[in-house]
Amino acid sequence: MKNKITDFLIYHQPYRVILKSIRNIFFPLKYDNINEKWISIEVSSICNAKCIFCNYKLGYRKGTLMDFSMYKNIIKSCQNMGINKLGLTSMGGEFFLHTKAVPMIKEAQKANFNKIEIHTNGILLYKHNIKELLTSGLTDLLISFPGFEESIFLEIYQTTRFNDFKKSITQLLENHKQLKSNVTIRFEPRTYLSKKQIKNSVFYKEFVLKYISDKIILSDPLKIFDSWSGEIKNKDLKKGMKLEINPIKSLYPFKKVNLCYRLLTKAVKSNGEVRICNCRYDSTIDTPSDIFCIGNIKDYKNLSNLILKNQNKIKSLQIDFHNGNIPKLCKNCSFYVPVNYKP
Ligand code: SF4
Ligand code: SF4
Repeated sequence: MKNKITDFLIYHQPYRVILKSIRNIFFPLKYDNINEKWISIEVSSICNAKCIFCNYKLGYRKGTLMDFSMYKNIIKSCQNMGINKLGLTSMGGEFFLHTKAVPMIKEAQKANFNKIEIHTNGILLYKHNIKELLTSGLTDLLISFPGFEESIFLEIYQTTRFNDFKKSITQLLENHKQLKSNVTIRFEPRTYLSKKQIKNSVFYKEFVLKYISDKIILSDPLKIFDSWSGEIKNKDLKKGMKLEINPIKSLYPFKKVNLCYRLLTKAVKSNGEVRICNCRYDSTIDTPSDIFCIGNIKDYKNLSNLILKNQNKIKSLQIDFHNGNIPKLCKNCSFYVPVNYKP
């Protein structure tokens, strides 16, 4: 009963925006150094879908695949810095478009990463060696999808590749069972469909259902979407999908702004640029005006050298934010998560 009430409040407006605003101002996360153990490496800024809720379709980015030698250099540097948690999710792109996707995960395993997480649309998994993928050191595979039907793939992910998705999921789940794999696979629907409607699809009932377990999970559908700093509009979405109402972040000027915890994280883009905040970007991405870009790894010996030489830049971005000079990108961002950290 308590969970049902909490879910109702969290997923219905205006309660959702009120609760998030109260959290933002009065209940920031407690700081621990876990964020500094994480690195995000984007190996592809090319995607094979054009989801209606994603700003990838606006075409701000040059499609790049990260060079394997650059990736190895970053991983080595992370090991020296004590970083042992890796997110391989792109800021706008598909990880499995990289032909070296699986060797890249194995490289991280060799460097003692104990958490390796990937968000994928799952379409291209069949092109890789799935057995190798499931034994590569990968810990969490998060599959974003609109529902288990061709028509919904066309409507929301704007791709005709549902059959490839089905082929990939079939191979993935069969191998997962055969290997008694420990990789957590989470299906994360982004759609207007209800969970019941998703479970009613033929592919789910006849195939996926028999694999559902504590390691293979179907999450509740996400129906509320971030606007990518105002760039995605309600008219881009379908009936039953809504844009998040941007919650209040502070009572500034009466109170300083809690830092967004993503400003404590580091991300390397597929073109070698290093950024704080691996989450949201606007049209300035890939240009010298990108507010969160720190420098390009190509201009330094390695990642730790780049970070060391740009400590002041990172600090001043954090201090500005904390003092209420929030970049426009952040002002409109609903992914803001406050942390109790004084830069
Ligand atoms: S699959 Fe991901 S990166 Fe590609 S368009 Fe959809 S949300 Fe964007
Ligand atoms: S508010 Fe949004 S864009 Fe700004 S740092 Fe946080 S997640 Fe990134």
